[in-house]
Amino acid sequence: MKYIKLLMISLLLLTGCSSKSDTLNKYDATTTTSGFDTFIKLIAYTKDKDEFDNYFEQLKKGFIYYNQLFDKYNDYKGITNVKTINDNAGIKPVKVNKELINMIELSKEYYELTNHQFDITLGPVLNLWHDAREQGIKANEEGKETTVPSIEALQLAKQIDGYDLIEINKKESTVFLNKEGASIDVGAIAKGYAAEQVAIKLEKNGLKHAIINAGGNVRIIGSKPSSDAWSVGIEIPNKKSMTSDSLASIHSSKSSSFVTSGDYQRYYLHEGKMMHHIIDPSTLQPARHARSVTVICENSGIGDALSTSLFTMSYEDGIKLIDTLKKQGIQVDAVWLYDKNVPAPSGVKTHKVLDYDIVITDGLKDIITFN
Ligand code: AMP
Ligand code: MG
Repeated sequence: MKYIKLLMISLLLLTGCSSKSDTLNKYDATTTTSGFDTFIKLIAYTKDKDEFDNYFEQLKKGFIYYNQLFDKYNDYKGITNVKTINDNAGIKPVKVNKELINMIELSKEYYELTNHQFDITLGPVLNLWHDAREQGIKANEEGKETTVPSIEALQLAKQIDGYDLIEINKKESTVFLNKEGASIDVGAIAKGYAAEQVAIKLEKNGLKHAIINAGGNVRIIGSKPSSDAWSVGIEIPNKKSMTSDSLASIHSSKSSSFVTSGDYQRYYLHEGKMMHHIIDPSTLQPARHARSVTVICENSGIGDALSTSLFTMSYEDGIKLIDTLKKQGIQVDAVWLYDKNVPAPSGVKTHKVLDYDIVITDGLKDIITFN
């Protein structure tokens, strides 16, 4: 709940001032009970409130469904999910919904594209960090400190890793983790994937002008009715006040997504360092290349996978990855955020806002304003 509140106050949608356009009216609603441990907000222009409510119901249903499907901690009646797959590691194949197989295959593409930096099979390592973080957050709240997982434990956990562990049988629609102790964690892609599927469904059902904000994971549906752009802010890390101020705003009037991975989103403090939730598979430690990376691209699932991927690699490797994707026809832009603790790479053009150095890809030059 505390996490939800934090995200609520860091809501960064700058939605403009017009509330009416011809026959369409602007409505918004927020749910904190549709999963993903976060708030989900819909802002949309519709004919009337009933129409809006109908879309909002569809949105809630969609997020609840995907949250259950991708959950690795809880069982749900009648649903075979990521937890079921993990529970059956080394035991037996599990019959799953095709969407889960699609997601595992999409994740594999990014595993390969990122030279294994994006790795949903890293479950055993991520579990160690998850447990340490839960204890650490609690201890920090009481003014105390706990520990970090030992290198030995992390290296042992890393031995059960890699896509060789996943056997997919498409005909039978089954997934089998072929080694005891193997586990997958789709936390880096699940929310974006869900946002994309929900947005596609709402668009199909007639919604033309809307914006979904799933805990900072933003998916735009069309322009505003006036054809004006929506503006999406780049969040200030560790912002303390309840302001909607942001470091920069990106303006877009076409269906697109904005996904941020940052060290400030989930962390505990240990010996003055932020022990956060995105782990660099090459060091088995929280990644320290940037304070945050925001990815702007069409598909929110890809955006989510990419923001986590870029966060785990150097700026130079990130640029190379973006170039590779461009060659495949996937348009990707990104915003990297640095500060004195995590400095920007030398020789790269930066924009200074407050105490931060911002680096952007060329594609954003004309659609970004620095605050
Ligand atoms: P995101 O906030 O989208 O960047 O995703 C962070 C979540 O992804 C974490 O809470 C973990 O569940 C998972 N994760 C952390 N590190 C990695 C990694 N290197 N590859 C894939 N998933 C990761
Ligand atoms: Mg992600």
